[in-house]
Amino acid sequence: PNSTAPPARTVLLAEPRGFCAGVRRAISIVEQALEQYGPPVYVRKQIVHNHHVVADLQSRGAVFVESEDEVPEGALCVFSAHGVSPAVRENAARRGLDVIDATCPLVAKVHQEARRYARDGRTLLLVGHNDHEEVEGTYGEAPDRTLVVETVEDALGLALATDTPTALLTQTTLSLDDTQEITAALRGRFQNLAVPATSDICYASENRQQAVKSIADRADLVLVVGSTNSSNSVRMVEVAEAAGARARLVPDVDHLENAWFDGVATVGVSAGASAPEELIDALLSLLAERGFTSIEVERAAVETLEFALPARLAGSRDPD
Ligand code: SF4
Repeated sequence: PNSTAPPARTVLLAEPRGFCAGVRRAISIVEQALEQYGPPVYVRKQIVHNHHVVADLQSRGAVFVESEDEVPEGALCVFSAHGVSPAVRENAARRGLDVIDATCPLVAKVHQEARRYARDGRTLLLVGHNDHEEVEGTYGEAPDRTLVVETVEDALGLALATDTPTALLTQTTLSLDDTQEITAALRGRFQNLAVPATSDICYASENRQQAVKSIADRADLVLVVGSTNSSNSVRMVEVAEAAGARARLVPDVDHLENAWFDGVATVGVSAGASAPEELIDALLSLLAERGFTSIEVERAAVETLEFALPARLAGSRDPD
């Protein structure tokens, strides 16, 4: 039969999505530093892993550098949300940099655990991705007694006696399910494995993964807004795929491809912890143009956590 009205197309919007407390704090730190001290404000590495956020701050006078060595002696330098190793702190101090630390408090917690376990003489088994800045920083707390474990195979292949005193640490943005498998392998191998009281995988990663799982069940296609170097965003795509959905990372709305939408009646939308809401709004507008006009919110958790700014910046912060 000829039907005149096109079928209703639906967006399932995951919640929580987008900015977490650590990202909001890190961006506010750069904004407040610019406001209170004026440009240039040097930032070591991308403040958070999103190129829109970086470009916006750059246009306002932030100068992003790869190493603290590139910052002029004595200048203001912000450390990114992903944290830095003690060697970087020492180098910055040696060069007289005026450091403002935007390390997420939940990353700082993992650093503290690393120091404590290392002091106790344990070998640190750091589950995470070798090439990620956060892992680089945590590893740097005890480089001579830390082993990075990326996969179950790595866990099974560690050349350590099974009675070695060990401790489990993880990157904050990993997939809960993959990490559970690696952790199980480590627990199976090492009799004396210390494990932190609360998981190192942060609340924001956990909530975003849960939310994306619940939309993946019902969506023909899941779109996750986030940059390609954003660990938690890439994990969300993998979680959606593991839950049986077709999923794509969307760094920018101009990355959308027509073919993705063939036969799709319901599209799930979420965003990684470093993706600004403007990008999600832009995506929703484009989806509306494609006929996805009905929006259903799927809420997996309510987030209320906020982190305070460092005291020297907190004074003049707008109460918005
Ligand atoms: Fe902190 Fe988690 Fe956000 Fe990373 S994703 S900045 S660890 S809250």
